[in-house]
Amino acid sequence: MPGLEDLYREIILDHYRTPRNRGELAPPAVRAEGHNPLCGDEIQVYLDVKDGVVSDIKIGGQGCSISQSSASMMSAAVKGKSVDEIRNLVRRFKNMMSIEEEDENAPPLDESKPLGDLEALRGVVKFPVRIKCATLAWNTLLDGLSQSN
Ligand code: ZN
Repeated sequence: MPGLEDLYREIILDHYRTPRNRGELAPPAVRAEGHNPLCGDEIQVYLDVKDGVVSDIKIGGQGCSISQSSASMMSAAVKGKSVDEIRNLVRRFKNMMSIEEEDENAPPLDESKPLGDLEALRGVVKFPVRIKCATLAWNTLLDGLSQSN
């Protein structure tokens, strides 16, 4: 029986080797770009936002397995979701990465839905230098969402 850590490693490698939603979207899709100079990771996020819903998302970029698999998982988790749901998901992900809430007046987190494959990144929190790799795609996503308003 493989342990949970092995399972998590498999999920991360699967997203790294077979990234979901890889590609680009033509304008008027929003394009956001993020860099993690500590590791050399680069992420581009393309978003089609219609009626408050991310109807399509594509991911470009290169970097370490944590940054690229996190981007792939993020794209799969947010596609077809409303911007409100996505903002909640970003907060939950950052919470899992032990990142403190910046907004003291933020509403309570809705933890009712399972995180799915994203759980596989939970182990990253033990390696503080890799947290920036894991959160890069999520911060780039937030940048893209703020452009789409
Ligand atoms: Zn990295």
